[in-house]
Amino acid sequence: MFFLLSLSSTSAAGAAIAASNFISLSKKSLSLHYLSLIKTARKPYSCSQFSTTMSINLNSHAFAGNPIRLKTPKSSDPFSPTSAFQTLKTLLLSHTHEPSSPDFKVLPFRKGRPLVGSVCDASGSGGKPSWHLGWLSLGECRAFLENSEVNLNEDSLVYLGFTAEDDDVYWAIDVSEATGLVSEFGARQFCFVELRTLMVATDWIDAKAMGELAVAGHARALLEWHTSSRFCGYCGAKTVPMDAGRRKSCSNELCKRRVYPRVDPVVIMLVIDKENDRALLSRQSRFVPRMWSCLAGFIEPGESLEEAVRRETWEEAGIEVGEVVYHSSQPWPVGPSGIPCQLMVGFFAYAKSLEINVDKEELEDAKWHSREDVKKALTFAEYKKAQRTAADRVDQICKGVEKGQNLSADFSVESGELASMFIPGPFAIAHHLISSWANQVVVNGAETHSKQPGSSLSSL
Ligand SMILES: [Zn+2]
Repeated sequence: MFFLLSLSSTSAAGAAIAASNFISLSKKSLSLHYLSLIKTARKPYSCSQFSTTMSINLNSHAFAGNPIRLKTPKSSDPFSPTSAFQTLKTLLLSHTHEPSSPDFKVLPFRKGRPLVGSVCDASGSGGKPSWHLGWLSLGECRAFLENSEVNLNEDSLVYLGFTAEDDDVYWAIDVSEATGLVSEFGARQFCFVELRTLMVATDWIDAKAMGELAVAGHARALLEWHTSSRFCGYCGAKTVPMDAGRRKSCSNELCKRRVYPRVDPVVIMLVIDKENDRALLSRQSRFVPRMWSCLAGFIEPGESLEEAVRRETWEEAGIEVGEVVYHSSQPWPVGPSGIPCQLMVGFFAYAKSLEINVDKEELEDAKWHSREDVKKALTFAEYKKAQRTAADRVDQICKGVEKGQNLSADFSVESGELASMFIPGPFAIAHHLISSWANQVVVNGAETHSKQPGSSLSSL
């Protein structure tokens, strides 16, 4: 709680959007049996498209639209966490290697990084590489872990969801302690790659790839929460996983407190000067050069979303906000360490006062930008190039060509050579808040959504 409160007065969320990406993995690869997980799953969003202003039309943000957890099954359902868990337990106890129904797919994670492979798709896309999750069957998982420090047991697996169409149940396992697995997977061209890197490397017009990113984000958030909730906050006793890892319970018979996965809400807002048709963009010292974004901050206990928007804007930029209008929200499982998953709640915040008074402890700078300047920043940004660069890099790492390295420099690719400023890429809600506003049509002072095909997130 202390940690959460200490962060609430900083704009950690905003910084998280811009923080550098690292490919953690040391390379070494190998080939695993890759299962095309989302092949029959329902498509939660349609393709995006570009307009001349580089506005991107998505129906779902990055990390949202997870295709294997669209509904919570009843406990009697064979795909419910409880039923799937019982089947898993039976299989583990019997040590059977027979195929089971439902079928189990297990996704290993190491220090928050999912196992991935990369393939070049030659069909119509010019051989561009795309990453995919490295799902293992239960048998493969058992074989890999046989001589490792990780026990494949009911406590180490976390239920992710199912696809009834495929009769598949998906699990995640934390294999951080099994250092030998890195080289073992590496020999098969599979690597553990930082989720932020995968986020940048994901082609947002590829619904399947976006689905895999959402699955990986959900799994990472759950595993991170398991790691950070090993002891009961009330009595200090150990906690034990319940309901196939979907919640935990205190092991102390006198306490038995239930603990649920943690989500930390964050407000992120584009502050708008309606009268002069401008938007407030800000920079944090941790941002890459020339990148400007929205204001953001954690919600404090006892505060409404609207109050948090007004308080953060006042504290960071000295601007008074009147009307607050909800835009959309985004799960953000790649925020500061120790916070398994933030929920970014996006707003348009209409300014009542215009004089900026920057809190230098929170921000490097904040300025009003005209709609034309913001449109220009969107036009110059080379998001697609940055995505391809990251995808190439993941491909090379999986194939053992290149060792893991810092990808932060590639973010500057987004800005293009001519841009004096740019905004975060389409994987961040800030991008869509800003481009939604930039592409609004103003008629006699009233804003309406642009009719052009590229207007962002119109259906969210
Ligand atoms: Zn307890």
